[in-house]
Amino acid sequence: MQSPISFPHIHYKNGFLYVENLSVSETISKKNVQTPFVLYSKAALDEAWSAYGSIAKNYPNTLICYAVKANSNLAILQYFARAGSGFDIVSGGELLRCLEIGADPKKIIFSGVGKQDWEIKLALESGIKCFNVESESELERIATIGREAGIKAKVSIRVNPDIDARTHPYISTGLKENKFGIEFSRALDIFKRAATLDSLEIVGIDCHIGSQILETEPYLDAVDRVIDLIKALVQAGIELKHIDIGGGFGIRYLDEKPLDIIYLRQALDSKLREAELGDMQVIMEPGRSLVANSAILVASVIVIKKTEFKNFVILNAGMNDLIRPSLYEAFHGVLPVIERDGDTDTYDIVGPICETGDWLAKDRNLSIQEGDLIAIESVGAYGTTMASNYNSRPFLAEYMVDGSELYQIRKAQNIKDIWSLEQTI
Ligand SMILES: *Cc1c(COP(=O)(O)O)cnc(C)c1O
Repeated sequence: MQSPISFPHIHYKNGFLYVENLSVSETISKKNVQTPFVLYSKAALDEAWSAYGSIAKNYPNTLICYAVKANSNLAILQYFARAGSGFDIVSGGELLRCLEIGADPKKIIFSGVGKQDWEIKLALESGIKCFNVESESELERIATIGREAGIKAKVSIRVNPDIDARTHPYISTGLKENKFGIEFSRALDIFKRAATLDSLEIVGIDCHIGSQILETEPYLDAVDRVIDLIKALVQAGIELKHIDIGGGFGIRYLDEKPLDIIYLRQALDSKLREAELGDMQVIMEPGRSLVANSAILVASVIVIKKTEFKNFVILNAGMNDLIRPSLYEAFHGVLPVIERDGDTDTYDIVGPICETGDWLAKDRNLSIQEGDLIAIESVGAYGTTMASNYNSRPFLAEYMVDGSELYQIRKAQNIKDIWSLEQTI
């Protein structure tokens, strides 16, 4: 199975791979760049943002909160802050990253099932927009920390609508057996409990049903359930300011039809109006769909190994740099940086790591030789943020192309820094 080049900012010209107007091989030779590295396209970010930007323009009561965990590089966060995005964070570390680039705390929401006390305190003191509360005990904990700090905590309750998002089981989060959110049948009682705690201000309701969702129905089904709950809350005298539908908007890796978020926002608007909730603010938390197709991973072919049963292309990048194939059997397109005319063979594209699960792509037809460069597509989301130092391999460098300009947005980690926090005894 061979991937077609489907992303306009990554293309071949005269047999050479380009990102925008920059040849990848030229980048390496002229700028003295070492492989492996990640190369972003600013134009691809612009394109991914444009749909959300137009939603924010056409529905001014929408707040887009970029989900930082998809890619937390400071230059990426700065890009979205400048575009007007807020942020959805899941840790104190992500909060500090957002504050580092000068993000507006009033546009930061804090999700996650296991918030620690110091993280709650830091978020309170920073004046974030709200906490997305995932359990009863977390609600009590936030109330206590708020009381102690003398700061009223704004909270949204994350409900689990028990909707099958029809995606990979590891990235499905809205089923009743998942660890996320508050059981739907308990939600009303928990809102009522929250209303009795005077260090809390209830501001919203949220759900997040999974990731890489390609159909709008699961969202709309979830929203129907949430709207019913909002009506019950109004009956109970609890008024909310916002409804947050989470993220998970699916994209193209191979031949998927991306989720039409503009249609989704429109359908949501009709539903809310029908329920006389048209004035509520709507929050969307896209991660993957804003960054996945903005980057390629460029690696060198170290060894080509042919056996009776299988052919392998062994790269100097592996599962520590991009774990999605190992973890979810995810598909990523593979492109030679310089196209060869010769015969093709079928290869598994693997890393150098001592694990059978260390593969990046399977059964790809390529004409390739040792020393060639290969680009792995769609690595902008859940790539560098999930990287590890396994096999004492350093985090790799990141660059961004803007037109024909190249900017380094992260240096490669110095190998000795991998163990710089360790001590012999
Ligand atoms: C991960 C996550 C997102 C973003 O999901 P994508 O699939 O990357 O769009 C949004 N909201 C919450 C609560 C998340 O955990």
